[in-house]
Amino acid sequence: MKKIIFGDHISKTFGEGQEKHIVLKDVSVEINEGEFVAIMGPSGSGKSTLMYALSGMDSIDAGTVFFEGMDLSALSEQTLAELRRTKMGFVFQQPTLLKNLNILDNIILPAMRNNKTSVDNIKKKAHALMEKVGISALEKRDITQVSGGQLQRAGICRALISNPQILFGDEPTGALNSKSAQDIMDILTEINAQGTAVLLVTHDPQIAARTNRVLFMRDGEIVNDLHFNRFNDTNIDSKIDKLMVEMRKIGI
Ligand code: ADP
Ligand code: MG
Repeated sequence: MKKIIFGDHISKTFGEGQEKHIVLKDVSVEINEGEFVAIMGPSGSGKSTLMYALSGMDSIDAGTVFFEGMDLSALSEQTLAELRRTKMGFVFQQPTLLKNLNILDNIILPAMRNNKTSVDNIKKKAHALMEKVGISALEKRDITQVSGGQLQRAGICRALISNPQILFGDEPTGALNSKSAQDIMDILTEINAQGTAVLLVTHDPQIAARTNRVLFMRDGEIVNDLHFNRFNDTNIDSKIDKLMVEMRKIGI
């Protein structure tokens, strides 16, 4: 399998002196092309910090993050921003869509900045994505006129507009009811099946059980890297049971 991301002995500290807090302790992790990975762990264990470090959104104090073999710290701010815009997609708990733009304009905005494709092509792509996630009828709506689940679908379309290699999600289903959350997971599963790697933070075993691999964090370290077996782990309930056993071991 080809590596997309390689975090090599990364450390991150917040604060100084008495206040010093090591949030990532010499973490090494690889994310391969097409993987579907969840990060679980107690609140404050460093899940978001790890995700931001791996995506180059946040700096690190020691170690190296490689994206497709490129050392992120060696890139200029501009190159790094472009890399994030074209090769990575981001989905957060609350989609950060703009209030004065309708759903369609919000979705196409990041691609318009890339300046490489025609507006027509970008719109075509946006329409295909909206169709895929079931929000085609909402393109002209203001973002205040749709539900939380619909907003998250729009956020996913926006994250996918540039065909990223990897989609990052920091608790992307955290603000949704369980039905909407599972619908979002159906969409992410389909996106993943079509080749996009997905890395998401979640505290919900029902969500993590939909992935193929779960990294467990505790106190800034990856303490377990559980790979589900493609052949044996096909039953969602038994996957949840497996996760609960591992969660108990680290106190969540
Ligand atoms: P998680 O996502 O697992 O809940 P985070 O990665 O957000 O955890 O945070 C891990 C630790 O780092 C927490 O103790 C948090 O308080 C601390 N932390 C995160 N971001 C900052 C920051 N910008 N400044 C200071 N401390 C931070
Ligand atoms: Mg977090």
